[in-house]
Amino acid sequence: MPAALLTIDEARQRVLETLTPLATETVAIADARDRVLAADVSAAGDVPPFPCSAMDGYAVSPGEADRILAVIGESRAGLPTDRALGTGEAIRISTGGAIPAGAVAVIPQEDVEAADGSIRIRRAVRAGDHVRDRGEDMKAGTTVLHAGTILGAAELGAAVAAGAGAVTVALRPRVQVLSTGDELRAPGEPLGPGEIHNSNGPMLSALAVHQGANTAPPRRLPDDRAATEAGLDRALESADVVIVSGGVSVGPHDHVKPALASLGVEEVFWRVALQPGKPTWFGRRGSTLVFGLPGNPVSAVVTFALFVRPALFALQGRAEDRRLEAEAILAAAVRRNSDRTQAVRVRLERRDGRLHALPNGPQGSHIVTSLLGADALAMVPAGEGQLEAGTTVTLEPLPR
Ligand code: AMP
Ligand code: MG
Repeated sequence: MPAALLTIDEARQRVLETLTPLATETVAIADARDRVLAADVSAAGDVPPFPCSAMDGYAVSPGEADRILAVIGESRAGLPTDRALGTGEAIRISTGGAIPAGAVAVIPQEDVEAADGSIRIRRAVRAGDHVRDRGEDMKAGTTVLHAGTILGAAELGAAVAAGAGAVTVALRPRVQVLSTGDELRAPGEPLGPGEIHNSNGPMLSALAVHQGANTAPPRRLPDDRAATEAGLDRALESADVVIVSGGVSVGPHDHVKPALASLGVEEVFWRVALQPGKPTWFGRRGSTLVFGLPGNPVSAVVTFALFVRPALFALQGRAEDRRLEAEAILAAAVRRNSDRTQAVRVRLERRDGRLHALPNGPQGSHIVTSLLGADALAMVPAGEGQLEAGTTVTLEPLPR
């Protein structure tokens, strides 16, 4: 009797247990975009480093409206004055200019009438008006970014403000995508009888890149035992993660599993209670991970989303994305699979303030167009009959 299929969660857990996070490196801020931070970043000093003006105007002392003050100098951004403010005086100041000694407030220039060498201030001024305090954004020594954070624009800005010139990040996983199949032709090549274009190679490479991987150009392997073994052997030498699509089922031309066994790649699991994606295979040789994904393009993308993406994240020590939406209401009934969870490509729409999941057209595992415009995978549990519209379903991210 065949062993019971692993659940999606069990399979994903085995993947995560098998891998070891990659080493780290230090890179300049200019090279750090989209990398995963491997060490916390804390503020080297207070930010802002000095009290400064939030407006273009005049640094003044607090007081009533209608005062006339003599303008005795200027504090520009980057060019502070060494004059201290005395009674009856104002110092011209620009946004970001340091508040001069003796001043505690700024009056915007819109609120003054400037005459030759003096101003009349039209409004009363309180201490602290239009002043940005030292350390208001970051206090020296506080942690600004935590390890595991992906460095997007905001994070790079914050790291720089915190004083960092370089950051410690995880190495990018080196990924090799291989597509098996005698029927596969390269993009744009004319098709002979029985042939199709190799969608998986470019799709899986793009997915890997978007999850932070360094990919070698995807390669194709024929349905031949020796060639499959040679191709896998080469990939295993230089990759942290090998993703091979097709050839993992039980057909007479499915050579991936025996080839991997000969190459000493140890099986961790094969087959998951998932539709599409049942024949998914996962194994390791040393620290190299191998994913054998089913050949149908939708199955390949779904299994990438559920198993490879979390692996690429974990290899980089990357925290899961903050999920704003983890559940939705199924907008149309879905026929259930009696023993496998279905990953249904859905579009998400908000209706009456609630999130609805609309199945994105025909769901066959060969229907590449069902991926177009899909926002997520709605997980429909195994069972009899159909899951009715209106039922709450969990969502899994569908990576770009
Ligand atoms: P397999 O898993 O090798 O049995 O393939 C299952 C189905 O997916 C077959 O119809 C294949 O022709 C198709 N297929 C396999 N690899 C690819 C690929 N790289 N691009 C598009 N379709 C594929
Ligand atoms: Mg095949």
